[in-house]
Amino acid sequence: MQTNLADFIRDTEQGQEAEAILRSCVHCGFCNATCPTYQLLGDELDGPRGRIYLMKQMLEGQPVTAVTREHLDRCLTCRNCETTCPSGVQYGRLIDIGRELVERLSPRPTAERLLRAGLRKGLQSPALFGSLLKLGQSVRGLLPSALREHVPTSNTSASPAGGRAVQSDIQDSPDAREATATLTRHMLVLEGCVQPAMAPETNAAARRVLARLGIDLVAAPNAGCCGAIDQHLAAPDAAKTAMRRNIDAWWPHIEAGCEAIVMTASGCGSTVKEYGYHLRHDPAYAEKAALVSTLTRDLVEVLRDEDLSVLPAAPPRRIAFHPPCSLQHGQKLRGVIENILTRAGHELLPVDEAHLCCGSAGTYALLQPELSGQLRARKLSNLQARGPELIASANIGCQSHLAAASAVPVVHWISLLDC
Ligand code: SF4
Ligand code: SF4
Repeated sequence: MQTNLADFIRDTEQGQEAEAILRSCVHCGFCNATCPTYQLLGDELDGPRGRIYLMKQMLEGQPVTAVTREHLDRCLTCRNCETTCPSGVQYGRLIDIGRELVERLSPRPTAERLLRAGLRKGLQSPALFGSLLKLGQSVRGLLPSALREHVPTSNTSASPAGGRAVQSDIQDSPDAREATATLTRHMLVLEGCVQPAMAPETNAAARRVLARLGIDLVAAPNAGCCGAIDQHLAAPDAAKTAMRRNIDAWWPHIEAGCEAIVMTASGCGSTVKEYGYHLRHDPAYAEKAALVSTLTRDLVEVLRDEDLSVLPAAPPRRIAFHPPCSLQHGQKLRGVIENILTRAGHELLPVDEAHLCCGSAGTYALLQPELSGQLRARKLSNLQARGPELIASANIGCQSHLAAASAVPVVHWISLLDC
């Protein structure tokens, strides 16, 4: 695509990166066929090709309005378009640049800015989020319906998958501490920001399963949100601060020889694998960030390389699996979890439109409730079509979003190996 960038951005690194991405787009429109918002709205400007064109206009110095911002806001950042694009257009990187620019060139009304600031603050602090969640649960019946559906009645205290009951940390009991002392391999795990309050059972199950494989999974207490929430809400400096904090928290463990940094939420994994890119110009952190990204593995990448025959046999279940966009489009890990679950004896049901987003997409469900709700209804209809006992997924955002409207329990897939 021919471009002629405006003076204000032409000679900047951002401008040059955006220009290279724009030039790689041949405007064929194949990506529209798999874009969830284009599927729903049928508007060229709510598909990737149209959004790319809007960003091109913005970078070329044409007027930027609230309409431009609205079309970019409706993008889920699901990156389905990247998977579809035959020209390798890096849409995810372009939309990050576009969102940052649109905030500057067409500032939001105060109420919207305050809402976004509140979300960034409230979601990223595990302590604050945990307190807000408890408060929300205590007055759930009084909340407006749009907010109520995001507040689960309680976090799961027993595994509906038939696995172990929740145990917040395998190292809590004396027996477990003794067992952990015999583990010879060590990996870090990210607890994250909302997962400890919403689904503490996920990391507890991951610890137990990995312990059976001889791997000790530890969390660095000072690590927190991976930075995705800030990054996707056009606050890249705050996102980089979160990334540096996590690197500092993990570094002593890396120096001590930890094998990998394990992600149990694919949304976080997708972001941490890009720390090297985001901090590439930071002289103090570039090398460390690159190493952190290299060491980062989704939980399934760890299990894929292990002998799983040592795990106790799981009671077989009929499962519909929802692969999060951050797993299949962000990390390009397609079919791996399904394969492991099948090998473990579970029946994996076919699911139509498995490539489409469920509508969760970080804060999207809160900021675009109507579109998000439509996508969830479509996703649940496909997931439940063949009568599964359980729906499994790999990201806390998708799990809680689907569970709020699902007729069958929604679990993290690791609970299906935790017997
Ligand atoms: S992003 Fe890719 S698929 Fe979409 S219009 Fe451009 S080249 Fe075609
Ligand atoms: S990231 Fe997803 S919603 Fe956004 S343009 Fe691409 S396919 Fe559409």
